[in-house]
Amino acid sequence: MTVNKIETKAIIIGAGPAGAGTSIYLTQAGIPHVIIEKETFPRDKVCGDACSGKTAFVLRKANPAWLQEIFDKEQDYTPSHGIIFVAPNGKALNIPYNPNRQPDEQAPGFTTPRLTFDNYLFEKLPSSHATIYQQSTVKSINKTADKVTVVFAKGNETYEVTAPLIVGADGDKGIVRKQFLNDNSNAKAYAVGLRAYYEGVTGLDKNNFIELHFLPEMLPGYFWIFPLPNGMTNVGVGILSDRIREKKINLREQMLSAIKNNPNINHRFANAKLVDKIQGWGLPMSMSQSPISGDNFLLTGDAASLIDPFSGEGIGNALYSGMLAAYAIEKSLQAGCYDRAFIKEAYDDVLYKRLGDELKISATLQRLCRYPWLFNFVVNKANKSPSLSKTISCMFTDMDLREQLRKPSFYAKILLNR
Ligand SMILES: Cc1cc2nc3c(=O)[nH]c(=O)nc-3n(C[C@H](O)[C@H](O)[C@H](O)COP(=O)(O)OP(=O)(O)OC[C@H]3O[C@@H](n4cnc5c(N)ncnc54)[C@H](O)[C@@H]3O)c2cc1C
Repeated sequence: MTVNKIETKAIIIGAGPAGAGTSIYLTQAGIPHVIIEKETFPRDKVCGDACSGKTAFVLRKANPAWLQEIFDKEQDYTPSHGIIFVAPNGKALNIPYNPNRQPDEQAPGFTTPRLTFDNYLFEKLPSSHATIYQQSTVKSINKTADKVTVVFAKGNETYEVTAPLIVGADGDKGIVRKQFLNDNSNAKAYAVGLRAYYEGVTGLDKNNFIELHFLPEMLPGYFWIFPLPNGMTNVGVGILSDRIREKKINLREQMLSAIKNNPNINHRFANAKLVDKIQGWGLPMSMSQSPISGDNFLLTGDAASLIDPFSGEGIGNALYSGMLAAYAIEKSLQAGCYDRAFIKEAYDDVLYKRLGDELKISATLQRLCRYPWLFNFVVNKANKSPSLSKTISCMFTDMDLREQLRKPSFYAKILLNR
């Protein structure tokens, strides 16, 4: 058997948003790399399909024309302007992402099936710096003193690729994390979600606000309805896995029961049709700033457990971490340093400096969701107070403001109507 040997600068395992983000920014830096992906694109990924401002930011930074391309394809992408939070008591709070938005301003986020979006990203990857292998099976990953070697098979061919750095962009339960960190489970920071595509759901917001319904039986977690193009909606639930175990929840039954029996929801599904089978997947969330790199490796996206523990957003963080991983790889290669200390400073420290506060606040919010009365209280008050509603809206972009949510004084001020 002949083995095809390849020497490169970085190996990326996985070509989802995290791997694509890494590759796009490595290409921009002119760094040769190899991407190994087990599926063939276009491929599906179980998800809520909602892309936030962070996704838009990374795309715009990579190439300002890309975001416009996305918004020009109305048949594939739905611009999204805000969120509707439905409190456990059934009261809704509409929060625009940008309360000062001008009518012709581009939407801060969008929704689109991952089949479409991930393929869009994947099509941006081919370049003279990126060598891509799809439908490939990793057989082994070995680390020597200062190199990593991956052996993989594609069809009848076997390849051996060697580089000073490897990037785990292989999602939840990724093999790179398992091999290098050996801690593939963290039950407390893990949620499980179900996704279903429906057509004919009524009562959607005219500005395509996404809907998060914090149903009492699903806390901490929520039921969602996200509008998609062509009259489709992405409907699903996500709940912490320790809660599922503790309460012996059957997630599928709980989701179908909400659709059938919840008086705020069921009439909207009266003529709706499920168009695909209901599918589940895990959400590894960031509750603590644990290591996401080490000697010769970096983890990105779900492989680094970077999902926002309150909103469940992971696409933006996957792309963003991919971008930062590429910057760190560039630094590493320039310095010829691939050790744990160097990479931690170039990658973990930078990532947690930029995303750490936001993730910490979301971790607190997730914990507060265990108290339905608090949620009801804030939503009731915000519905009566345009200034509180605007403050909450601004929290999407202003981290200092969002930090207020962690402080008891914030709730005391609401209570006292200040
Ligand atoms: C039910 C649910 C709903 C969600 N809703 C949202 C939402 O609305 N908005 C949002 O922002 N986030 C959402 N998320 C989170 C989001 O889906 C993830 O955070 C995001 O997909 C992470 O991107 P990634 O590139 O890290 O991983 P993935 O998208 O999982 O990509 C990993 C890639 O690696 C490949 N791969 C895996 N193993 C190997 C291997 N051994 N060899 C080679 N390739 C491999 C896979 O085929 C895949 O292409 C949701 C998640 C779930 C489960």
